Amino acid sequence: MAGQSEELIIKAKETHGLTRQEIVTLLGDASAEEQLARAADAVRHEFVGDGVHLRGLIEFSNICRQDCCYCGLRRENGRIERYRLTEDEIVELARKAKGYGYRTVVLQSGEDMHFSAPVMCRILRRIRQLDLAITLSIGERSREEYKAFREAGADRYLLRIETTDAALYHRYDPGMSHENRLRCLWDLRELGYEVGTGTLVGLPGQSLASLADDVLFYQELDADMIGIGPLIPNGDTPLGKAQPGDFHLTRRMVSILRLLLPEANIPATTAMETMVPRGREVILSSGANVVMPNVTEGDYRRKYALYPGKICVADTPADCRQCMQGRIAAMGRFVARDKGFRHHREAKI
Ligand code: SAH
Ligand code: SF4
Repeated sequence: MAGQSEELIIKAKETHGLTRQEIVTLLGDASAEEQLARAADAVRHEFVGDGVHLRGLIEFSNICRQDCCYCGLRRENGRIERYRLTEDEIVELARKAKGYGYRTVVLQSGEDMHFSAPVMCRILRRIRQLDLAITLSIGERSREEYKAFREAGADRYLLRIETTDAALYHRYDPGMSHENRLRCLWDLRELGYEVGTGTLVGLPGQSLASLADDVLFYQELDADMIGIGPLIPNGDTPLGKAQPGDFHLTRRMVSILRLLLPEANIPATTAMETMVPRGREVILSSGANVVMPNVTEGDYRRKYALYPGKICVADTPADCRQCMQGRIAAMGRFVARDKGFRHHREAKI
Protein backbone atom coordinates (compact mmCIF):
# COMPACT_ATOMS: atom_id res chain seq x y z
CA MET A 1 0.00 0.00 0.00
CA ALA A 2 1.27 3.46 -0.88
CA GLY A 3 2.42 5.52 2.11
CA GLN A 4 0.03 8.25 1.03
CA SER A 5 -3.01 6.02 1.54
CA GLU A 6 -1.76 4.99 4.94
CA GLU A 7 -1.54 8.63 5.99
CA LEU A 8 -4.99 9.36 4.58
CA ILE A 9 -6.56 6.49 6.51
CA ILE A 10 -5.03 7.81 9.74
CA LYS A 11 -6.24 11.31 8.93
CA ALA A 12 -9.77 10.08 8.15
CA LYS A 13 -9.89 8.00 11.32
CA GLU A 14 -8.82 10.90 13.51
CA THR A 15 -10.51 13.88 11.89
CA HIS A 16 -13.43 12.34 9.93
CA GLY A 17 -12.59 14.73 7.13
CA LEU A 18 -10.94 14.29 3.73
CA THR A 19 -10.79 16.43 0.60
CA ARG A 20 -12.35 15.32 -2.66
CA GLN A 21 -8.92 14.43 -4.07
CA GLU A 22 -8.01 12.45 -0.95
CA ILE A 23 -11.23 10.44 -1.21
CA VAL A 24 -10.43 9.74 -4.88
CA THR A 25 -6.97 8.48 -3.90
CA LEU A 26 -8.40 6.02 -1.37
CA LEU A 27 -11.22 4.87 -3.65
CA GLY A 28 -8.66 4.13 -6.35
CA ASP A 29 -6.12 2.27 -4.18
CA ALA A 30 -7.09 -1.41 -4.17
CA SER A 31 -3.98 -2.21 -2.11
CA ALA A 32 -5.34 -0.04 0.74
CA GLU A 33 -8.63 -1.92 0.95
CA GLU A 34 -7.91 -4.20 3.90
CA GLN A 35 -6.36 -1.49 6.04
CA LEU A 36 -9.21 0.86 5.16
CA ALA A 37 -11.71 -1.81 6.21
CA ARG A 38 -9.91 -2.38 9.51
CA ALA A 39 -9.92 1.34 10.30
CA ALA A 40 -13.62 1.58 9.40
CA ASP A 41 -14.40 -1.45 11.57
CA ALA A 42 -12.66 0.19 14.53
CA VAL A 43 -14.59 3.45 14.02
CA ARG A 44 -17.82 1.49 13.67
CA HIS A 45 -17.09 -0.26 16.97
CA GLU A 46 -16.27 3.02 18.71
CA PHE A 47 -19.20 5.10 17.45
CA VAL A 48 -22.13 2.72 16.91
CA GLY A 49 -21.00 -0.37 18.81
CA ASP A 50 -21.22 -4.06 18.02
CA GLY A 51 -25.01 -4.27 17.69
CA VAL A 52 -26.29 -4.97 14.18
CA HIS A 53 -29.68 -3.46 13.43
CA LEU A 54 -32.05 -5.64 11.48
CA ARG A 55 -34.79 -3.94 9.49
CA GLY A 56 -37.54 -6.12 8.03
CA LEU A 57 -38.03 -5.27 4.36
CA ILE A 58 -41.58 -5.45 2.96
CA GLU A 59 -41.66 -5.22 -0.85
CA PHE A 60 -45.31 -4.31 -1.22
CA SER A 61 -45.67 -3.38 -4.90
CA ASN A 62 -43.49 -3.72 -7.99
CA ILE A 63 -45.58 -1.31 -10.04
CA CYS A 64 -43.65 1.82 -11.00
CA ARG A 65 -44.36 4.98 -12.97
CA GLN A 66 -40.64 5.67 -13.49
CA ASP A 67 -38.33 4.23 -16.10
CA CYS A 68 -34.85 4.04 -14.54
CA CYS A 69 -32.53 2.38 -17.06
CA TYR A 70 -31.04 -0.09 -14.56
CA CYS A 71 -34.13 -1.32 -12.74
CA GLY A 72 -36.36 -4.29 -13.51
CA LEU A 73 -39.38 -2.51 -12.06
CA ARG A 74 -39.21 0.25 -14.71
CA ARG A 75 -42.55 0.88 -16.39
CA GLU A 76 -41.35 -0.15 -19.86
CA ASN A 77 -40.37 -3.62 -18.68
CA GLY A 78 -43.13 -5.88 -20.02
CA ARG A 79 -41.37 -9.05 -18.88
CA ILE A 80 -42.10 -8.72 -15.18
CA GLU A 81 -45.27 -9.99 -13.48
CA ARG A 82 -46.67 -7.05 -11.59
CA TYR A 83 -48.25 -7.29 -8.15
CA ARG A 84 -49.56 -5.01 -5.46
CA LEU A 85 -50.33 -6.15 -1.91
CA THR A 86 -53.53 -5.03 -0.21
CA GLU A 87 -53.48 -2.76 2.82
CA ASP A 88 -54.41 -5.70 5.03
CA GLU A 89 -51.62 -7.85 3.58
CA ILE A 90 -49.03 -5.12 4.21
CA VAL A 91 -50.13 -4.61 7.80
CA GLU A 92 -50.15 -8.37 8.32
CA LEU A 93 -46.54 -8.66 7.09
CA ALA A 94 -45.56 -5.89 9.52
CA ARG A 95 -47.33 -7.73 12.33
CA LYS A 96 -45.46 -10.92 11.46
CA ALA A 97 -42.17 -9.00 11.28
CA LYS A 98 -42.80 -7.84 14.80
CA GLY A 99 -43.41 -11.49 15.75
CA TYR A 100 -39.98 -12.43 14.35
CA GLY A 101 -38.46 -9.82 16.64
CA TYR A 102 -37.94 -6.90 14.25
CA ARG A 103 -38.23 -3.40 15.75
CA THR A 104 -38.28 -1.65 12.35
CA VAL A 105 -39.98 -2.35 9.05
CA VAL A 106 -39.04 -0.82 5.71
CA LEU A 107 -41.98 -0.41 3.34
CA GLN A 108 -40.54 -0.39 -0.17
CA SER A 109 -42.15 -0.29 -3.62
CA GLY A 110 -41.92 1.11 -7.11
CA GLU A 111 -43.47 4.55 -7.52
CA ASP A 112 -46.99 3.10 -7.43
CA MET A 113 -49.48 5.96 -7.30
CA HIS A 114 -52.28 3.68 -6.14
CA PHE A 115 -50.70 4.34 -2.76
CA SER A 116 -51.91 7.91 -2.56
CA ALA A 117 -51.27 9.93 0.58
CA PRO A 118 -54.59 8.92 2.24
CA VAL A 119 -54.01 5.21 1.48
CA MET A 120 -50.39 5.31 2.66
CA CYS A 121 -51.33 7.24 5.81
CA ARG A 122 -53.95 4.64 6.72
CA ILE A 123 -51.32 1.90 6.44
CA LEU A 124 -48.80 3.93 8.46
CA ARG A 125 -51.28 4.60 11.26
CA ARG A 126 -52.12 0.90 11.52
CA ILE A 127 -48.48 -0.18 11.60
CA ARG A 128 -47.59 2.52 14.11
CA GLN A 129 -49.96 0.86 16.57
CA LEU A 130 -47.68 -2.18 16.49
CA ASP A 131 -44.90 -0.15 18.12
CA LEU A 132 -42.55 -0.56 15.18
CA ALA A 133 -40.30 2.13 13.74
CA ILE A 134 -41.26 2.67 10.09
CA THR A 135 -39.02 3.45 7.15
CA LEU A 136 -40.65 4.39 3.85
CA SER A 137 -38.92 3.83 0.50
CA ILE A 138 -41.51 4.68 -2.13
CA GLY A 139 -39.70 7.26 -4.24
CA GLU A 140 -40.35 10.88 -5.07
CA ARG A 141 -43.43 12.63 -3.66
CA SER A 142 -44.43 16.19 -2.89
CA ARG A 143 -43.42 17.92 0.32
CA GLU A 144 -47.07 17.84 1.43
CA GLU A 145 -47.21 14.08 1.02
CA TYR A 146 -43.94 13.60 2.90
CA LYS A 147 -45.37 15.78 5.67
CA ALA A 148 -48.55 13.70 5.81
CA PHE A 149 -46.56 10.44 5.95
CA ARG A 150 -44.43 11.81 8.76
CA GLU A 151 -47.49 12.83 10.75
CA ALA A 152 -49.06 9.41 10.17
CA GLY A 153 -46.04 7.69 11.71
CA ALA A 154 -43.16 7.34 9.25
CA ASP A 155 -39.86 7.81 11.10
CA ARG A 156 -37.38 7.36 8.30
CA TYR A 157 -37.21 7.65 4.54
CA LEU A 158 -34.89 5.91 2.15
CA LEU A 159 -34.26 7.62 -1.19
CA ARG A 160 -30.94 7.06 -2.88
CA ILE A 161 -29.57 9.99 -4.80
CA GLU A 162 -28.07 7.17 -6.96
CA THR A 163 -25.41 9.62 -8.23
CA THR A 164 -24.71 13.28 -7.49
CA ASP A 165 -23.56 13.71 -11.12
CA ALA A 166 -26.63 15.42 -12.61
CA ALA A 167 -25.70 14.58 -16.23
CA LEU A 168 -25.27 10.90 -15.39
CA TYR A 169 -28.49 10.91 -13.41
CA HIS A 170 -30.44 12.38 -16.32
CA ARG A 171 -28.93 9.81 -18.70
CA TYR A 172 -30.04 6.82 -16.63
CA ASP A 173 -33.19 8.17 -15.01
CA PRO A 174 -35.02 9.55 -18.05
CA GLY A 175 -37.93 11.81 -17.28
CA MET A 176 -36.69 12.46 -13.75
CA SER A 177 -34.92 15.58 -12.53
CA HIS A 178 -31.87 15.61 -10.33
CA GLU A 179 -33.04 18.90 -8.88
CA ASN A 180 -36.28 17.30 -7.73
CA ARG A 181 -34.40 14.36 -6.22
CA LEU A 182 -32.36 16.84 -4.16
CA ARG A 183 -35.52 18.75 -3.25
CA CYS A 184 -37.02 15.51 -1.93
CA LEU A 185 -33.99 14.78 0.25
CA TRP A 186 -33.82 18.29 1.72
CA ASP A 187 -37.60 18.30 2.34
CA LEU A 188 -37.31 14.99 4.17
CA ARG A 189 -34.45 16.43 6.23
CA GLU A 190 -36.48 19.52 7.15
CA LEU A 191 -39.57 17.48 8.03
CA GLY A 192 -37.62 15.65 10.71
CA TYR A 193 -37.19 12.27 9.10
CA GLU A 194 -34.11 10.18 9.59
CA VAL A 195 -32.89 10.43 6.03
CA GLY A 196 -31.39 7.48 4.22
CA THR A 197 -29.80 7.84 0.82
CA GLY A 198 -27.02 6.24 -1.17
CA THR A 199 -25.21 5.48 -4.40
CA LEU A 200 -25.61 2.97 -7.17
CA VAL A 201 -21.96 2.09 -7.85
CA GLY A 202 -20.98 1.20 -11.40
CA LEU A 203 -23.26 3.32 -13.58
CA PRO A 204 -21.43 3.46 -16.93
CA GLY A 205 -19.47 6.73 -17.03
CA GLN A 206 -19.36 7.18 -13.25
CA SER A 207 -15.90 8.36 -12.17
CA LEU A 208 -14.10 8.08 -8.85
CA ALA A 209 -14.42 11.87 -8.56
CA SER A 210 -18.18 11.51 -8.88
CA LEU A 211 -18.24 8.88 -6.11
CA ALA A 212 -16.13 11.25 -3.97
CA ASP A 213 -18.72 13.97 -4.60
CA ASP A 214 -21.41 11.55 -3.37
CA VAL A 215 -19.49 11.08 -0.11
CA LEU A 216 -19.13 14.85 0.35
CA PHE A 217 -22.84 15.29 -0.38
CA TYR A 218 -23.75 12.77 2.33
CA GLN A 219 -21.65 14.78 4.77
CA GLU A 220 -23.36 18.01 3.72
CA LEU A 221 -26.82 16.43 4.06
CA ASP A 222 -25.72 14.86 7.35
CA ALA A 223 -27.35 11.64 6.12
CA ASP A 224 -28.54 9.32 8.87
CA MET A 225 -28.28 6.22 6.73
CA ILE A 226 -26.29 5.53 3.58
CA GLY A 227 -26.86 2.44 1.46
CA ILE A 228 -24.27 1.68 -1.20
CA GLY A 229 -24.76 -1.10 -3.71
CA PRO A 230 -23.16 -2.23 -6.96
CA LEU A 231 -25.10 -2.15 -10.22
CA ILE A 232 -26.25 -5.65 -11.12
CA PRO A 233 -27.11 -5.54 -14.83
CA ASN A 234 -30.68 -6.62 -15.48
CA GLY A 235 -31.22 -8.18 -18.93
CA ASP A 236 -34.72 -6.75 -19.13
CA THR A 237 -33.42 -3.16 -18.97
CA PRO A 238 -31.34 -0.84 -21.21
CA LEU A 239 -28.32 -1.41 -18.91
CA GLY A 240 -28.60 -5.19 -19.32
CA LYS A 241 -25.22 -5.44 -21.04
CA ALA A 242 -23.35 -3.01 -18.77
CA GLN A 243 -20.41 -4.14 -16.63
CA PRO A 244 -21.49 -5.04 -13.10
CA GLY A 245 -20.47 -2.60 -10.37
CA ASP A 246 -17.16 -3.44 -8.67
CA PHE A 247 -17.60 -5.21 -5.34
CA HIS A 248 -14.23 -4.04 -4.05
CA LEU A 249 -14.72 -0.42 -5.04
CA THR A 250 -18.12 -0.54 -3.33
CA ARG A 251 -16.49 -1.99 -0.24
CA ARG A 252 -13.88 0.78 -0.17
CA MET A 253 -16.65 3.34 -0.47
CA VAL A 254 -18.51 1.81 2.50
CA SER A 255 -15.33 1.99 4.60
CA ILE A 256 -14.66 5.61 3.62
CA LEU A 257 -18.25 6.50 4.51
CA ARG A 258 -17.85 4.99 7.97
CA LEU A 259 -14.67 7.00 8.54
CA LEU A 260 -16.23 10.26 7.37
CA LEU A 261 -19.76 9.81 8.79
CA PRO A 262 -18.92 7.83 11.92
CA GLU A 263 -22.41 7.93 13.48
CA ALA A 264 -24.37 6.96 10.37
CA ASN A 265 -26.29 3.76 9.97
CA ILE A 266 -24.72 1.91 7.05
CA PRO A 267 -26.33 -1.25 5.70
CA ALA A 268 -24.60 -4.25 4.22
CA THR A 269 -26.82 -4.33 1.15
CA THR A 270 -28.42 -7.38 -0.40
CA ALA A 271 -26.84 -6.53 -3.76
CA MET A 272 -23.38 -7.07 -2.21
CA GLU A 273 -24.32 -10.62 -1.29
CA THR A 274 -25.81 -11.23 -4.71
CA MET A 275 -22.33 -10.53 -6.13
CA VAL A 276 -20.21 -12.36 -3.56
CA PRO A 277 -21.35 -15.19 -1.26
CA ARG A 278 -21.18 -13.97 2.35
CA GLY A 279 -20.78 -10.47 0.94
CA ARG A 280 -22.86 -9.01 3.75
CA GLU A 281 -20.44 -10.35 6.37
CA VAL A 282 -17.54 -8.82 4.46
CA ILE A 283 -19.30 -5.45 4.47
CA LEU A 284 -20.37 -5.74 8.13
CA SER A 285 -16.66 -6.13 8.92
CA SER A 286 -15.76 -3.13 6.74
CA GLY A 287 -17.80 -0.44 8.47
CA ALA A 288 -21.47 -1.45 8.12
CA ASN A 289 -23.89 -1.97 11.03
CA VAL A 290 -27.31 -2.65 9.46
CA VAL A 291 -28.88 -5.52 7.50
CA MET A 292 -32.32 -5.49 5.90
CA PRO A 293 -33.58 -9.07 5.72
CA ASN A 294 -36.58 -9.67 3.53
CA VAL A 295 -39.93 -10.24 5.24
CA THR A 296 -41.92 -10.39 1.99
CA GLU A 297 -43.58 -13.77 1.57
CA GLY A 298 -43.93 -16.40 -1.16
CA ASP A 299 -43.67 -15.60 -4.84
CA TYR A 300 -43.65 -11.84 -4.32
CA ARG A 301 -39.98 -12.09 -3.34
CA ARG A 302 -39.11 -13.38 -6.80
CA LYS A 303 -41.39 -10.90 -8.53
CA TYR A 304 -39.77 -7.91 -6.83
CA ALA A 305 -36.92 -8.24 -9.30
CA LEU A 306 -34.88 -5.05 -9.31
CA TYR A 307 -31.99 -7.14 -10.63
CA PRO A 308 -31.37 -10.84 -11.41
CA GLY A 309 -29.86 -13.37 -9.03
CA LYS A 310 -31.57 -11.95 -5.96
CA ILE A 311 -30.70 -14.01 -2.88
CA CYS A 312 -33.10 -15.95 -0.65
CA VAL A 313 -36.10 -15.85 -3.04
CA ALA A 314 -37.09 -19.37 -1.97
CA ASP A 315 -36.69 -18.70 1.76
CA THR A 316 -39.31 -17.72 4.30
CA PRO A 317 -39.06 -14.61 6.49
CA ALA A 318 -38.42 -16.88 9.48
CA ASP A 319 -35.49 -18.52 7.61
CA CYS A 320 -33.95 -15.12 6.86
CA ARG A 321 -34.24 -13.95 10.41
CA GLN A 322 -32.67 -17.13 11.81
CA CYS A 323 -29.92 -17.14 9.22
CA MET A 324 -28.87 -13.53 9.83
CA GLN A 325 -29.00 -13.90 13.58
CA GLY A 326 -26.66 -16.91 13.41
CA ARG A 327 -24.26 -15.22 11.03
CA ILE A 328 -24.07 -12.07 13.13
CA ALA A 329 -23.39 -14.08 16.28
CA ALA A 330 -20.67 -16.04 14.46
CA MET A 331 -18.93 -12.72 13.80
CA GLY A 332 -18.86 -11.91 17.52
CA ARG A 333 -21.54 -9.26 17.07
CA PHE A 334 -25.15 -9.26 18.25
CA VAL A 335 -28.59 -8.26 17.00
CA ALA A 336 -29.45 -4.88 18.51
CA ARG A 337 -32.69 -4.84 20.47
CA ASP A 338 -33.60 -1.18 20.16
CA LYS A 339 -35.30 0.50 17.22
CA GLY A 340 -31.98 1.58 15.81
CA PHE A 341 -32.34 5.31 15.54
CA ARG A 342 -29.19 7.15 14.69
CA HIS A 343 -26.85 7.37 17.59
CA HIS A 344 -25.83 11.03 18.01
CA ARG A 345 -22.55 11.49 19.80
CA GLU A 346 -20.89 14.67 20.91
CA ALA A 347 -18.13 15.69 18.53
CA LYS A 348 -14.75 14.45 19.65
CA ILE A 349 -12.44 17.19 20.81
N1 SAH B 1 -38.73 3.07 -6.15
C1 SAH B 1 -37.97 3.40 -4.99
C2 SAH B 1 -37.53 2.20 -4.17
C3 SAH B 1 -37.26 0.92 -4.92
S1 SAH B 1 -35.81 0.86 -5.88
C4 SAH B 1 -36.77 4.24 -5.38
O1 SAH B 1 -36.36 4.20 -6.54
O2 SAH B 1 -36.25 4.92 -4.50
C5 SAH B 1 -34.56 0.72 -4.63
C6 SAH B 1 -33.13 0.80 -5.13
O3 SAH B 1 -32.80 -0.32 -5.92
C7 SAH B 1 -32.81 1.97 -6.04
O4 SAH B 1 -32.52 3.12 -5.29
C8 SAH B 1 -31.62 1.46 -6.86
O5 SAH B 1 -30.39 2.03 -6.41
C9 SAH B 1 -31.61 -0.05 -6.60
N2 SAH B 1 -31.55 -0.79 -7.87
C10 SAH B 1 -32.44 -0.77 -8.88
N3 SAH B 1 -32.01 -1.52 -9.91
C11 SAH B 1 -30.81 -2.03 -9.55
C12 SAH B 1 -29.84 -2.88 -10.21
N4 SAH B 1 -30.03 -3.33 -11.44
N5 SAH B 1 -28.72 -3.20 -9.52
C13 SAH B 1 -28.53 -2.76 -8.26
N6 SAH B 1 -29.39 -1.95 -7.60
C14 SAH B 1 -30.51 -1.58 -8.24
FE1 SF4 C 1 -39.02 2.62 -10.13
FE2 SF4 C 1 -37.30 2.84 -8.06
FE3 SF4 C 1 -36.88 1.07 -10.05
FE4 SF4 C 1 -36.62 3.66 -10.58
S1 SF4 C 1 -35.34 2.46 -9.13
S2 SF4 C 1 -37.72 2.17 -11.87
S3 SF4 C 1 -38.20 4.54 -9.26
S4 SF4 C 1 -38.54 1.06 -8.57
